[in-house]
Amino acid sequence: MKILIVEDEPKTASYLHRGLIEQGYAVDIAANGHDGRHMALEYDYDVIVLDIMLPGIDGLSILRELRTVKQTPVIMLTARDRIDDRVLGLQAGADDYLVKPFSFHELLARLQALTRRGRNSPVSQLRIGDLEIDLFARKAWRGGQRLDLTAKEFALLAALARRQGDILSKTVIAELVWDVNFDSDANVVEVAVRRLRGKLDDPFKQKLLHTIRGMGYVLELRNGGD
Ligand code: CA
Repeated sequence: MKILIVEDEPKTASYLHRGLIEQGYAVDIAANGHDGRHMALEYDYDVIVLDIMLPGIDGLSILRELRTVKQTPVIMLTARDRIDDRVLGLQAGADDYLVKPFSFHELLARLQALTRRGRNSPVSQLRIGDLEIDLFARKAWRGGQRLDLTAKEFALLAALARRQGDILSKTVIAELVWDVNFDSDANVVEVAVRRLRGKLDDPFKQKLLHTIRGMGYVLELRNGGD
C-alpha cells in the first residue's frame, strides 16, 4: 500500500510519515504544490493525502488536474475555517476530507475505508440496474440510451450514484452539487431533482430515484419497482 502525502507543514508531514510507516504503509512526502503535482501525476499511489493550502500550486488545482487523468483516491486536508474548500474539493473529485487538526487514528480509519472501497468498485464507471454512468466522460445512459443531462443534472446524478443506497438530505445535496453558501432554498434542490427525474426515470418503467419523505433522496434499484 503506497501513500503520497502532500503537506508543507514539516511537523504534520513527519507525524503522518512516521505513523503510516509504523502501520506498514510505504510513504512519499511532497512538501510543496509543484512536487505534489509532479508525484501525483507521475507515480501510482493507492491513496493521496492532499493539503489544500500549499506553496506553489494549491491542492485543489492539483486535484482537478489529477482527475483528468486518474482516479487515485484523495483525502483532502482542510483548515477549520475554510468550509468552501471542502465543498470545492468534493466537487473537484476528492473522495474524503479531514479538517485540521485531526487525529492520526481518524486519518487511518479514512485511509482504510477508501482502500477497501477502491478494491470493491471501480471509481470511473457506476452501474445501477440499466443505468450506466461514466464519471470521466460525464455521460450517463439508461438501457444503452444516452441521457441528455445538463452539467448540474449530471453532478446531481453522480452525487447520488456515488452514494447509491444512501439517503441524501437536501442540505447534503446542496453542498455537494452547488455550494455550502448557497442560500439553502430547498426548492432549488427539489426543482433539480424533478428535472433529473424527468430524464432519468419518467421515460422508463423501473424508477431509480426515490423520495424519502422528510429525509431526502436515494438512488437505488428496488425489486418489483414502485
Ligand atoms: Ca498547508
